[in-house]
Amino acid sequence: MLLKFILGNNGDPTGDEYTRGMYKRILLKLSGEQLQGQFDGGFDADRAAWIAEEIKKAQGAEIIIMIGGGNYARGAQLAGKGVQRVTADNIGMMATIMNAVALTDVFNSNGLTARALTNLTLDQVADQFTHRRALSHLSKGRVVIVAGGIGRPYLTTDTAAVSLALELECDAILKATKVDGIYDSDPAQNPNAQKITTISHQQALEQPDIKIMDKAALGLATEHDQALVVFELLKPDNIAKAIAGESIGTTIKS
Ligand code: UDP
Repeated sequence: MLLKFILGNNGDPTGDEYTRGMYKRILLKLSGEQLQGQFDGGFDADRAAWIAEEIKKAQGAEIIIMIGGGNYARGAQLAGKGVQRVTADNIGMMATIMNAVALTDVFNSNGLTARALTNLTLDQVADQFTHRRALSHLSKGRVVIVAGGIGRPYLTTDTAAVSLALELECDAILKATKVDGIYDSDPAQNPNAQKITTISHQQALEQPDIKIMDKAALGLATEHDQALVVFELLKPDNIAKAIAGESIGTTIKS
């Protein structure tokens, strides 16, 4: 099958829904852009509060969030004209910490208990990530918001998300996007375009047009058979539905 386009669609699901049963522990990947909400950049507390309400609908699952920083800085874009790539990536990682601490505050003030942990050490601002600390927070029913990616340059928070999902043995990564899945052709051009409900890691990796996640992240997920669900964040109930195992986007699994 030709998997060419990843585009938004307001249409109905294709109908080939199936139930996988509820995920017990998931990693939700949120990009920085999703936190800027109505603004051109920075942090929109209203959007964060909306996300908190959506997460509250998902009862019983353990939730880890890997947070991006693109609403403030992306290393690849910032580097150059004297700014070294390593410096730019450090700035990008610090951006994720800004998001994590603000998101944690908004979650806590909206009745969703959360703790921020960071892989880039910034002791005065957030607790350092450790495996044990993350598990301890999860066991107390807290949402764990992880910042700083992996804490090393030349990586994105997508790759960090896969690494963290493996480390914490998550059942699935829910990759929140602006679009509602992967299509077999361009829905804007082809009224008969079908959303692809499931594809294998290998298929996703081999298709150059699939840009839903960077290839390093997808490669790591492929190597370790880590399930991914690509879904549209802003559709109400989608987070809860994804966690409940409803087919709401495109699932990538072997
Ligand atoms: N980053 C990094 N190492 C990591 C994760 C992130 O150096 O492990 C830097 C990188 O510069 C990246 C920035 O942090 O561009 C922000 O992350 P990302 O671009 O993934 O954010 P998103 O696009 O998800 O908002």
